[in-house]
Amino acid sequence: MRTKLHPQSDTDGLLTQIGELSESTDMPVYAVGGFVRDCLLNHPVDEIDFVVIGDGPQFASNACKAMKGHGWVVYKKFGTASFMVDNFRLEFVTARKEIYQADSRNPEVLSTDLAEDLSRRDFTVNTMAMHLDTKHFGLIIDPFKGKKDIKKKLIRTPLDPVQTFSEDPLRIMRAARFASQLQFEIHPDALQAMQMERERLKIVSQERITAELLKILSHPRPSIGLRILQKTQVFEIIFPEISALVGIEQRDTYHHKDVFEHTMKVLDNVAAVSDNLLLRFSALVHDIGKPRVKRFVDDIGWTFHGHEVTGVRMLKPIAQKLKLSNEYQKYSREMTRLHMRPIQLIGEDVTDSAIRRLIVDSGDKLEDLMTLCRADITSGNPNRVKRHLTNFDYVAKRIEEVEEKDRMRAFQSPVRGDEIMKAMEIQPGPYVGIFKRRIEEAILEGIIPNEHDAAFNFLHQIKEDVLSE
Ligand code: ATP
Ligand code: MG
Repeated sequence: MRTKLHPQSDTDGLLTQIGELSESTDMPVYAVGGFVRDCLLNHPVDEIDFVVIGDGPQFASNACKAMKGHGWVVYKKFGTASFMVDNFRLEFVTARKEIYQADSRNPEVLSTDLAEDLSRRDFTVNTMAMHLDTKHFGLIIDPFKGKKDIKKKLIRTPLDPVQTFSEDPLRIMRAARFASQLQFEIHPDALQAMQMERERLKIVSQERITAELLKILSHPRPSIGLRILQKTQVFEIIFPEISALVGIEQRDTYHHKDVFEHTMKVLDNVAAVSDNLLLRFSALVHDIGKPRVKRFVDDIGWTFHGHEVTGVRMLKPIAQKLKLSNEYQKYSREMTRLHMRPIQLIGEDVTDSAIRRLIVDSGDKLEDLMTLCRADITSGNPNRVKRHLTNFDYVAKRIEEVEEKDRMRAFQSPVRGDEIMKAMEIQPGPYVGIFKRRIEEAILEGIIPNEHDAAFNFLHQIKEDVLSE
């Protein structure tokens, strides 16, 4: 059955132009895939996919000239080309069927008709095409009942799922990613096939796997996609340190029982308040050291002493294996290293100096660290969470007070090196550093305020002491 689609009005003009060009060059072109899906879902789009029955790059090149496009990119080998108009990227592919070899995901590409092309797409929700010619403009071609699956919120493969995932195992990651992005369920047969074919992910490049993983993290509830990767044992292949968190029991007042469950909750909590992908990734890995340091202590239960240090150590090879940037590595290690610190301040009679040490140690990451730590308070018992959060609010308030008092973020001695040398009548050398550190310590300990004059007077008080050492 054909349904008429009402394309989003801001893309209407573009689609009409492509349709006219298609008619004048006698080359059938359809909007397809993610664009049609997102229109039906009323989701905003920034990319429009087209399928060309004929030479895709040739058609795209004509269209780019006619529409004064920019940012031209072409992959002749794959029969694809794209360019930008307004803020949309228009992606053209030659209708194709692909013959796969068992040991590679680089297919041999042959041109074909629309029906064959659609059947080669990954999920039914991505198999719909839309007419662009004047007569049928907006009509949807839906041979695999993608529209029905959108209604049912279902990810399903158009052909045999085992074959679909085996041919291109990246689709395993894409299934989990779409489930997360669209908040859809994956059909049980597809789930089973993902699990069966998971080993084949080893032939996919790490960059593409990691890109999908980060996409999962970028959605409002990352746990949806990650639970799927866990359930299908895909994590065992792509990120075994995460599957190692399953079944690691913990018992303490601030956290959920199972470390994997706890991690999912922390990640969703972070995602609810921050789009920062570095922070979301850190939430995923902050407890990654726990399985390795787990010990049972009588009368106390499971303990995880030093898990943050072990986690930091593990993150270097993990980041390298995932081919994450240095920024990811540095940031997530820093967050993991510090993630226990604010929580340890709960309930204590927190001194200014303890707070100052946290401020100085976390530097420009303090705010993100506090976001992570607040998210880290999870429990099955909502009253308990509420009580801990109230206590945590008190820590946050104390930080604000101390910060305000000291303006400490870019902390350094308020008395400079040259001034120290002049006042202390010394030459450049180790004593300058010693004086500076004594001043900084005195400020951190709250002995003197973080002000120039107080520090200058303090310098004179300690002069004899320091120089006679
Ligand atoms: P989004 O743009 O939101 O990531 P999308 O569905 O547009 O989602 P793209 O990666 O842009 O995803 O791909 C465009 C279309 O190409 C898809 O909708 C799908 O029809 C098809 N496609 C992409 N990758 C594959 C694949 N690995 N196997 C089969 N079909 C695919
Ligand atoms: Mg797309």
